[in-house]
Amino acid sequence: MVLVGVDLGATKVRAALGDEGGIMASCWEETDRRHGARGVTDQIIRMIRRLLSEEGDGSALKAIGVGSIGPLDLSKGCIRKPPNLPMRVIPLREPLQEAFGVPVHLLNDCAAAVLGEQFFGAGRGLEDLVYVTLSTGLGGGAIVDGHLLIGKDGNGVEIGHIVVDPEGEMVCGCGCKGHWEAYCSGANIPRYARHLLREREPEEVTSSLLLRFSDGDPQRITAEILFEAARRKDEISRWVVEKIRELNAIGFADLVNLFDPELITIGGSVALKNPDLVLEPILEKIGQYTINRVPEIRLTPLGEEIVLYGALALVRGNG
Ligand SMILES: [Zn+2]
Repeated sequence: MVLVGVDLGATKVRAALGDEGGIMASCWEETDRRHGARGVTDQIIRMIRRLLSEEGDGSALKAIGVGSIGPLDLSKGCIRKPPNLPMRVIPLREPLQEAFGVPVHLLNDCAAAVLGEQFFGAGRGLEDLVYVTLSTGLGGGAIVDGHLLIGKDGNGVEIGHIVVDPEGEMVCGCGCKGHWEAYCSGANIPRYARHLLREREPEEVTSSLLLRFSDGDPQRITAEILFEAARRKDEISRWVVEKIRELNAIGFADLVNLFDPELITIGGSVALKNPDLVLEPILEKIGQYTINRVPEIRLTPLGEEIVLYGALALVRGNG
């Protein structure tokens, strides 16, 4: 009995063979952005075929679980206008079902991830937990009273699009203003940093470590460069990180007030690589914004593979 889990992200596609015990083999590629929507679907099919031929037995495949970036249309089994991929509709369920002849189940990637946390990770035995990814985008999944929250189209916990700035200084990839993701996701931290730098004297900016690490070109600022400069006590970088940490504390407090979870786990490359500048500040500041008892907040032990674990957890009953 073999299950396949797929994690479709804006920058990477991952696929895994596994069973109820976890992952047996996995692989990843950069998401194909050059061949339109069907290019992405074909890439996933190719990766699954390769895994099955190299590591497993195709005839033993029982089901495929997919955790995907949104927004999803679960009734049609596709993604519609993802803010971080240049495509309109990406079909998933039907092409995968046709290619492999097994049931295909689809969930928002963070909804899948929180399932993965509950079955394979830090949330075992818990009925109330939330997962947050701080990655290219910013997303979340929640299990409340034992129920995975999904919503009418599959986009129930789109926390990246919670408004955290009523002034709406930054425009989100979805087109709206003031959304959390527009300030704090890996793709948007550089834009927000450049926006903030306009408030500072030009000499301060040009002499900063932040600009030196970016070869003097603000367009080259990345989240990694910003955090590295902040770690080296660059004043401007620390000031930008402070703004980000305030918004993250507000976002996490909103989740605690909404869902009253026992545990929040955090994943995604921005958080996993910078716990000192992302996780610790949230723990310090969240109490200022929440009425509910602050839950345990920690990095996920499942790391970059959490959505794969979640995709396997989603189809585990099909074995
Ligand atoms: Zn948005």
